[in-house]
Amino acid sequence: MSISENIKKILTQEVPESVKLVAVSKTKPIEQILEVYTFGYKIFGENRAQELSEKYSKLPKDIEWHMIGHLQTNKVKYISPFVYLIHGVDSFKLLQVIDKEGTKNNRIINCLLQFHIATEETKFGFDLSEAKQMLESNEFSNLQNINILGVMGMATFTENTQLVRAEFKELVYIFNQLKSKYFSTKSDFKEISMGMSGDYKIAIEEGATIVRIGSLIFGER
Ligand SMILES: *Cc1c(COP(=O)(O)O)cnc(C)c1O
Repeated sequence: MSISENIKKILTQEVPESVKLVAVSKTKPIEQILEVYTFGYKIFGENRAQELSEKYSKLPKDIEWHMIGHLQTNKVKYISPFVYLIHGVDSFKLLQVIDKEGTKNNRIINCLLQFHIATEETKFGFDLSEAKQMLESNEFSNLQNINILGVMGMATFTENTQLVRAEFKELVYIFNQLKSKYFSTKSDFKEISMGMSGDYKIAIEEGATIVRIGSLIFGER
């Protein structure tokens, strides 16, 4: 099947309309992204700031770009003028830099807080108590140019679907805790970004509002 057939199938048969699909185009060439764009789909995700910035400059400007990977503070500047949503905010320091870049660019930058839900050591993210501490701090309340829309997480890379499901449930629990404690009156705090090619069906069953799918659309990397 072609790339556009892949995405068509996913959009019509796999992902409900209420769930946003981010087509993860990392490592893939401009021509393949344009194939999806020409088909009519305009929401893409990348995991490296410089690659994202380069693709932004070469592609149509009505694409909604998502930064889904780990972001270093010194790379925020490459994407701050245009990025729609930064999924991987995993420290207060990073959030402060994003806020500063938002101010410089005269815009408010949408963010998700990433939580560490996997058993693997290598995956980034807050735990619930760290996030609470941040959200209760005065320094946090001073940030004017960021907008937190929800949470993001990555499950363990495993065949064990029970473990994956339990990790997604944990992220939903964290979302609900934060929602009721800090964001109950903030109607746009509503996003749960979880699920990739291998586990997005479980993620949708558990309440994902955003799924990030790469290889099922573009093929293996
Ligand atoms: C690469 C990547 C994805 C997509 O992975 P696939 O398995 O190709 O669907 C999703 N989320 C993040 C954070 C990624 O880095």
